[in-house]
Amino acid sequence: MFVDKAKIRVKAGDGGDGAVSFHREKYVAAGGPDGGNGGKGGDVIFVIDDNFSTLIDFKYKKKYIAERGENGGAKHCTGRNGQDLIIKVPRGTLVRDFNTGRIIADLSRKDRQVIARGGNGGKGNSAFKSPTRQIPKFAKPGYPGEEFELSLELKLLADVGLVGFPNVGKSTLISVVSQAKPKIANYHFTTLVPVLGVVKVEAEKSFVMADIPGLIEGASDGIGLGHEFLRHVERCRLILHVLDVSGSEGRDPAEDFDIINAELEKFSPDLAKCPQIVAANKSDMASPEQIGALKKYIEDKGYAFFEISAATTQGTAELIKYISGELDKLPPIKEYEPEEIPEEELMQIEDDRKKITVTKEEDIYFVEANWLEPILRTVDLDDYSSLQYLQRVLQTSGVFTRLEEMGIEEGDTVDIFGLEFEYVK
Ligand code: GDP
Ligand code: MG
Repeated sequence: MFVDKAKIRVKAGDGGDGAVSFHREKYVAAGGPDGGNGGKGGDVIFVIDDNFSTLIDFKYKKKYIAERGENGGAKHCTGRNGQDLIIKVPRGTLVRDFNTGRIIADLSRKDRQVIARGGNGGKGNSAFKSPTRQIPKFAKPGYPGEEFELSLELKLLADVGLVGFPNVGKSTLISVVSQAKPKIANYHFTTLVPVLGVVKVEAEKSFVMADIPGLIEGASDGIGLGHEFLRHVERCRLILHVLDVSGSEGRDPAEDFDIINAELEKFSPDLAKCPQIVAANKSDMASPEQIGALKKYIEDKGYAFFEISAATTQGTAELIKYISGELDKLPPIKEYEPEEIPEEELMQIEDDRKKITVTKEEDIYFVEANWLEPILRTVDLDDYSSLQYLQRVLQTSGVFTRLEEMGIEEGDTVDIFGLEFEYVK
């Protein structure tokens, strides 16, 4: 079964809790705090594995949870970090947030990408010891790991995508110009699995061609076969449109050409704009009049026209050479950029996100707010302007007001996700 779409849930590991503990030894009266920090939760990491060509594994296993960080222990023992969870995917897998459709990552060239980050461990009580705070009796719980519902979509990486009606000779063509060996005789198999073939042009030069199952009319409306497979040509730099010029199945190749292009346009206007070359196949069975008429029809529309016979390989070398020359002029295979969370979406989750929780333990004010975490990750504490930025964020978001409401005084400590500083008015 060829599976090129899946929905899964991933959760990075939560951080381990910090420990509250005091040093105990015979004959030593008051031991100091020695509770260690919790370990960091494991990340969920996607890795490209070229041994995989479908997303079938994800049909069976839907939930992926990375290991939690261990809790801190006595004697300054830091909890062990949770192990990262590695998820192997075929090259070309596009990862989106299921609920919004936002692209999170494209596993095409970059082999390894962290998709969900594990939570940091909470600090143990020994971390809160200071000259004025000798016996802190509290520790912090670990932070939660990120959690997402993801949609995975495989979009093959190919320079040239073959499109055309079933039985026009696409599989035969790819089998004669590359090492790919799609099943040609057996209609059912050929139509179910996209096949990639490397086409060697010269010793050091090659490109990748994709044979996708044939398109039929209505395919872009989800009627019948083909529509599901169009996403595999979306990255292509060039489309090779194969026609049966002999009309051996009783169809009109000019009409076929227009039908397929209308389907491409319906599926994606971008795809319809992709450069296209026409290969008039089965010319061995066609009359000169048939070939001449189709050539005129296609060239009048502004497309390059090649008369070939995949079965006898006649004309295929010229076609490949021309394609290679065109590819030299075109941009590389499309790679999708991760998308930012759009403003409106931020506004929607704002209420929940803007929540600020401040808790006081002895003379430390702990500030917690989910929305602050990504901001803090980018702040460079050794950089003055970066610190000023943080200051502004804390001011405008009302964190300082909240602290003052709680009676914070000059010199008290503020802790934001483990980052500590002294409060100055
Ligand atoms: P696809 O469905 O577009 O992949 O078409 P196939 O490559 O499976 O070919 C369909 C049928 O057409 C097969 O029986 C092929 O042998 C035949 N065929 C393919 N190319 C040619 C050609 O150039 N000339 C002739 N006479 N038959 C061909
Ligand atoms: Mg085929």
